[in-house]
Amino acid sequence: MSKKKSKLDRFTWIITELILGILALGYGLAGIIGWPTSSNYLYIILICLGSILLLTSIIQIIIMRKKKINKFCSKCGEKIKKEDDFCPKCGEKID
Ligand SMILES: [Zn+2]
Repeated sequence: MSKKKSKLDRFTWIITELILGILALGYGLAGIIGWPTSSNYLYIILICLGSILLLTSIIQIIIMRKKKINKFCSKCGEKIKKEDDFCPKCGEKID
């Protein structure tokens, strides 16, 4: 499996997590608002699950973004974009 594919899979998983989180949270909230007198345990569980999914996906996105920002050239120390193959300053190959 190539590095690019595993990155794509990771991104797809984060997006899936995010969508599932929003759906669970939305459904849970709608359930509680819609039926305030009935048993709300299922909706509370859904809200908790949705919040956890949302939070973990957001944390993963933040970590991914931080990694992107903190990449530097090993030769000259220039800040490098994730998609760059060579250093824009000295031309050193980025691995
Ligand atoms: Zn450099």
